[in-house]
Amino acid sequence: MKIKTKLTYGIGALFAMIVLILVVSVTYIRTVSADTRNILAANYNSLSYAKQMIYVLDRLNEDTGARNIFVENLKKQQQNITETDEGEITARLTMHFQQAKDTLTAENIQLLREDLDAIMTLNMSSIYEKSKIAEVTAQHAVLWISLIGAGCAVIALALLIIFPASITKPIKELMDGIVEISNRNYDKRLSIRATGEFRNVAVSFNNMAEKLSEYRQSILADILSAKKYIEAIVNSIHEPIIGLDENRKILFVNDEAINILNFKREEVIGKSATDLALKNDLLRRLVRELIQPGEKKEPLKIYADNKESYFQAKYIPIKVINTGESKEQYIGDVILLKNITEFKELDTAKTTFISTISHELKTPISAIMMSLKLLEDNRVGDLNEEQHALSRSIKENSERLLSITGELLKMTQVETGKLQLNPKITKPIELINYAVNATRVLAERFKCNIEVEYPEKIAKLFVDSEKIAWVITNLLSNAIHYSPENARVIIGAAQVGDKVEIFVQDFGRGIDPRYHQSIFDRYFRVPGTKVQGSGLGLAISKEFVEAHGGTIRVESEVDKGSRFTISFPV
Ligand code: ADP
Repeated sequence: MKIKTKLTYGIGALFAMIVLILVVSVTYIRTVSADTRNILAANYNSLSYAKQMIYVLDRLNEDTGARNIFVENLKKQQQNITETDEGEITARLTMHFQQAKDTLTAENIQLLREDLDAIMTLNMSSIYEKSKIAEVTAQHAVLWISLIGAGCAVIALALLIIFPASITKPIKELMDGIVEISNRNYDKRLSIRATGEFRNVAVSFNNMAEKLSEYRQSILADILSAKKYIEAIVNSIHEPIIGLDENRKILFVNDEAINILNFKREEVIGKSATDLALKNDLLRRLVRELIQPGEKKEPLKIYADNKESYFQAKYIPIKVINTGESKEQYIGDVILLKNITEFKELDTAKTTFISTISHELKTPISAIMMSLKLLEDNRVGDLNEEQHALSRSIKENSERLLSITGELLKMTQVETGKLQLNPKITKPIELINYAVNATRVLAERFKCNIEVEYPEKIAKLFVDSEKIAWVITNLLSNAIHYSPENARVIIGAAQVGDKVEIFVQDFGRGIDPRYHQSIFDRYFRVPGTKVQGSGLGLAISKEFVEAHGGTIRVESEVDKGSRFTISFPV
């Protein structure tokens, strides 16, 4: 049944009940009122006339006024005959009054009194009867009105209980359904037992849920095919690739990664990389490098498919901007392992080549230097000024050549991991003195004033003195080269806590802060540097110092100078 019909029936029923109560009440009130009016008109008047006549009865003979009142009331009584027998008694009263004519005897008066008594008694008993009838009518009225009222109250109460529930129950069911749908339970259906509008709502709701369910299935199919597509792409990449979520759970791996990790696919997908790392060295290193991104990342040497391969790991954080948001949200990482075996092999070939060439060059350069020494010997013959200048130039260039081949050799040692340290206890001043002596000629040539700052008490070092002396010489040589003529250079040592620091400070051109990191890279030279060099000195120095567990750093400002400090644990 429609809500409108329900409302019409409910309110209509109440209206009908109110009308019924009204009709019954009015009818009964009218009946009771008619009864009362009847008593008044019919009986009360007769009693009043009779009473007036009795009042003047004893004065009828002597008082004409009294006689007139009697006659007047008698006439009124004659016109107010309402009861059976009343007409007869009134006729008898008239007859007894007329019989007596002008004079009334005591007997006549007695007869008249009896007639009047009879009229009064008749009317009084009639009043009594009629009031009894009125009382019964009133009782009936009370009974019927109460019965109908009670019936109406019961019906109204039933409407009050059933009617709101019949509306709210389907609404509640609909609301529950909507909540289920919003919780993505698209299998939710509403019962279509309801009638009227709610039946239509339930049918529409069920249609909507059905369509949503179909839609979800089609979306799922789309997502699955997109997932397969992405998996196919990931698998077609011929370099190992691992995808992690923000909690480092493995989301995907391609066959290459599976191969080098030496796991089965089902053993890794959905598992925590941190947990798996406990039993897999390669994954342990990858996770460690992912967590500590600042660490120096050496290529990974992996033995897979019966051959040795080198991989360079790349860690790519994945960030997305969710719909309706403006901030990027981190959702995980992708680890990409680039196979650099080929480059590594080429690099090794290059290093071997440089090493061989440098080694081979050393002998002829030494022979040139030896020949130069002989040439400058007076015993061989005198040289004129021009020849002296030429031999000096050959010597300088040969020295430079020797120093470059020396640096290249050292570099190849570092690159091939053949760096061997022969540490012994050394005083820092010995290393400083060595460097000052080694650069004396250079300093003189540039009229450079080298100052040594050395504290009275300083701990000794346990280092390969040849290599560290080389590092300090290189720093001092740079300080002289990159300072103008007549400049100051300070070299010194200091103990800072449990560390010994050796520093070289110049007041030359300085280094732009942009290059403070790169100057320690192999073959890097600050753009625009005119002084000749290989760009290897600082890179080798760094390797040498770090091989001793020490550090090297630079503080420098353009046009103010630079201060290089090497620091070693005591
Ligand atoms: P090289 O001196 O042979 O070029 P290095 O590795 O010793 O190689 O130095 C790398 C670069 O750092 C140099 O080319 C130079 O531009 C810059 N550099 C090094 N020391 C100084 C210094 N004391 N003052 C200014 N620039 C310097």
